[in-house]
Amino acid sequence: MPTYVCPNCGRTASLPEGDYYCKVCGPDYPLVVKRSRAEWERIADSIVNEIYNEIHYFCWHISDEPVYECFYTHAIEDLYTLASIYIREDAERKLKLIGEMPDDIYDKYNMKLQRMLERTAKELERKYARR
Ligand SMILES: [Zn+2]
Repeated sequence: MPTYVCPNCGRTASLPEGDYYCKVCGPDYPLVVKRSRAEWERIADSIVNEIYNEIHYFCWHISDEPVYECFYTHAIEDLYTLASIYIREDAERKLKLIGEMPDDIYDKYNMKLQRMLERTAKELERKYARR
């Protein structure tokens, strides 16, 4: 049985798989599965890589913009927004995970994705932009 934790008061409970809310804090606080930080980092990292690959495909094969401009456009958007647009497989579950991950891990991987996109944009700009 997974251990669930209330994001508000920290109360934990071992329960069969399901949707629960906190008995103390009420229905505004759904319980989330308790995961180690290492586990959250693995989840965040794999989501970021998936989004990056989808954006890569989009900028190279679908967008009408110059490819580096497309990357720049995406580099200023946040992880949740990009996930809601670009994740295609199992999107609902992954968006839920993004919503549940600890704030500092979200911030770290949000930054990581922005840097990956920005770095690609700069490399491509150097290669292809006409000055
Ligand atoms: Zn609570």
